[in-house]
Amino acid sequence: TEWSEISLNLLIEEIMSFLFPRILEVNVKVEEHLQANLQFKGYKEEIRQVIINIVFNAIDVLSGNSSDPIIIIRAYEHHDSITLSIANNGPKIPSELQNTIFDPFVTTKKTGTGLGLYVCKEIIEKHSGTLTCESNEDWTIFHITLPSIK
Ligand code: ADP
Ligand code: MG
Repeated sequence: TEWSEISLNLLIEEIMSFLFPRILEVNVKVEEHLQANLQFKGYKEEIRQVIINIVFNAIDVLSGNSSDPIIIIRAYEHHDSITLSIANNGPKIPSELQNTIFDPFVTTKKTGTGLGLYVCKEIIEKHSGTLTCESNEDWTIFHITLPSIK
């Protein structure tokens, strides 16, 4: 795949229709709050992989036994930067674990690889962006920033 101009709005739309069957299956509500016309440059398939990984992790944690599971996706531009936040209302990630989830092979799943977030962070940093996580009793939120073009 080539370095190109990407519409984040279209990419999220593609990803969410791809994930729709899975989202129906696990009965998770999805809310989107996207500013219009968010454009950045990068490798589309890599950024797609990042977003899918993070949403899949959210689905994994919600498909357990949480009540009223919800994923909220927000994206907006501020100065020359796009922020994409993917939040879910699953259980808090313990503080010690929060410090290591981006390291390779860190997983709490029986059949997890622990490579998802590690690869996500590599990809986002290669795009001159940042990937961070915050987690408390109410929400776990992954924040991606990317340089915008406009
Ligand atoms: P894997 O999905 O194979 O376990 P990841 O690198 O994608 O590997 O995630 C590492 C670990 O981070 C997961 O096993 C889980 O413990 C934790 N994690 C990731 N996303 C979330 C989330 N949304 N809520 C709670 N824990 C999470
Ligand atoms: Mg994963």
